[in-house]
Amino acid sequence: MKDPAIQIRLRSLPAVNSLVDQIVAWEAKFGAIGCRDEDRVDICRRSLEAIRQRILQGEEIDVPVWLEEARHAIVKELQIRPLHQLNEVINATGIILHTNLGRAPIDSQLLHEATRKAGQYCNLEVDLESGVRSQRQKPIREFLQQLTGCESATVVNNCAAATILVLRALASSREVIVSRGQLVEIGGSFRIPEIMEVSGAKLREVGTTNITRIKDFEKAIQPQTALLMRIHQSNFRIRGFTESPSLEELVELGHKHNLPVVDDVGSGVLIPLTPFGMNDEPLVPRSIQAGADLVLFSGDKLLGGPQCGIIIGKKSLIEKLEKDPLMRALRCDKITLSLLQGTLQKYLQAKDSWPDILLYRLLAISIEELRVRSAKFIAELSSLEEQAEFQLAEETAYVGGGTLPDQALPTIVIQVSPKSISSEILCKRLREKFVLARISEDRVLLDLRTVLNDQKLAGVLKEALEGICYPDHFAASAR
Ligand SMILES: *Cc1c(COP(=O)(O)O)cnc(C)c1O
Repeated sequence: MKDPAIQIRLRSLPAVNSLVDQIVAWEAKFGAIGCRDEDRVDICRRSLEAIRQRILQGEEIDVPVWLEEARHAIVKELQIRPLHQLNEVINATGIILHTNLGRAPIDSQLLHEATRKAGQYCNLEVDLESGVRSQRQKPIREFLQQLTGCESATVVNNCAAATILVLRALASSREVIVSRGQLVEIGGSFRIPEIMEVSGAKLREVGTTNITRIKDFEKAIQPQTALLMRIHQSNFRIRGFTESPSLEELVELGHKHNLPVVDDVGSGVLIPLTPFGMNDEPLVPRSIQAGADLVLFSGDKLLGGPQCGIIIGKKSLIEKLEKDPLMRALRCDKITLSLLQGTLQKYLQAKDSWPDILLYRLLAISIEELRVRSAKFIAELSSLEEQAEFQLAEETAYVGGGTLPDQALPTIVIQVSPKSISSEILCKRLREKFVLARISEDRVLLDLRTVLNDQKLAGVLKEALEGICYPDHFAASAR
């Protein structure tokens, strides 16, 4: 028999529906949170279940007091829950390839078409003409042959996976010669020496940090050498007295000794970026022309596609990679392959001009265009004069994603100096409304280059400055 006091407490708890109605009423009073109905019901139910357990265990809980606190907690959880889920954000940082924001953005039409083709059932591994089983990489291979002049190609999850696959399939328990100046770390967890270790290949470093000559490679070649590797310094540059062998020299040496030469170029640039004032990234077709046996690059850096790692080069080597059991674990899914196919098609359609993909459209936005857009943006915020000061300023941005560390893109930013809150608070409020911005010299900087919907950003900024932010607003009203 239950203690009668416990019974009374349990009976005074509201039903789930009643608690949900109370939360809805609070939202009507203080502004909708914009949460899903299922989430509201779920959180209310779990909140009631937790209190029921505490009462059953004999805790002397004053139900009306608990209810008051529970409403706050429920609203807060409803507000926070979407922040912990994957959601679209507005990127106002101006960093086009932001690794933490998913690197290359993919334009919605391409996205839509690619998911339509592959989302449900698709001819992923069946040849519709003959009816026999085919390879999922085949369509991509043909596009890459046309775009880069390579003999063959394959695709895996990312460039890190590509590197591991190549090293394991071609250099397991044998030596790979790399210049000391190219033992890079990219994105925190991609470190060449560690990648070598997990793949089972032995790293043989040659030369010094700044100078490595072809002779250093030549002297290191031994019977246990498996391949020569060049790695692009992606996210840093060494200046001053520097020297490293050209790809042509490596190819000549490698072929003299019957050793394949692997070129990890990192960012897959297929067309010259000089029209954008950038000439610091290796061109993929040029590595093929120079005779590299395999060239590796990412799909979501300057190629502008989905996350994947592309390997192009000699047919015999690609076949060897595809036969490795690891290939099975590293292969891409149908959606990725479809997105990559759509992206590569855009390059083919563009011939030698820029492909019509979102990344290149963002790169191509001129300073003048940004200035006009930013001025218009500020003009539309005139009602917010009491909350903040807005100014146009010239700034520099970077492409990001471990590419072009030396090439600052001149850009225009909107400097926001909030009058009654700190820049940190404004940034936090924006973040909780799915907007990422930069802070510099105690001002919030908004760079419209990477913003795909100016109006939406203006609306969010207005709410953040006016303090229409549920938790703060809610706390203030409840006091
Ligand atoms: C970025 C990069 C990688 C890693 O590519 P992911 O696709 O991020 O795995 C490997 N090598 C080089 C040279 C890179 O620049």
